[in-house]
Amino acid sequence: MNFAHRYPLNVPGKFYVDDQCTDCDLCRECAPNNIRRDDRFGQSYVYKQPETDEEVAAVMEGVDGCPTEAVRSDGDQHDWDREPIIDWTTSLRRFDHDVHFEVTVPVIPYEETVEEERLAMERWKAENKKSWWKELFS
Ligand code: SF4
Repeated sequence: MNFAHRYPLNVPGKFYVDDQCTDCDLCRECAPNNIRRDDRFGQSYVYKQPETDEEVAAVMEGVDGCPTEAVRSDGDQHDWDREPIIDWTTSLRRFDHDVHFEVTVPVIPYEETVEEERLAMERWKAENKKSWWKELFS
């Protein structure tokens, strides 16, 4: 479920940071060219995907060293244009933040439990299932 928990400010690509960030600063120290902090919440995000071997190695240090495994490297296995994202607005309001993110992908409700979230994701998938038959003949 991590991909649904990607921070909305991550730029699409292989690497992203999810909501498990505890603001320890490690990944930003390792990869200042690629990862920065959203000062409003003390949350890291990938603002530029690595382009050189050095940058990839620096971000990988963050992936390997993050104490909460919040820096993820499976972004290239997901569809950034289509896959839903959790409602960070709701999530952050729990902490008295009033913020709005512009996202172009479907937003699924923030759920209190992993199970509730899994069900919400299943519902979304069922409602958005592609029908090849329909695509071929409609
Ligand atoms: S290493 Fe992990 S916990 Fe620390 S700032 Fe980066 S994403 Fe956040």
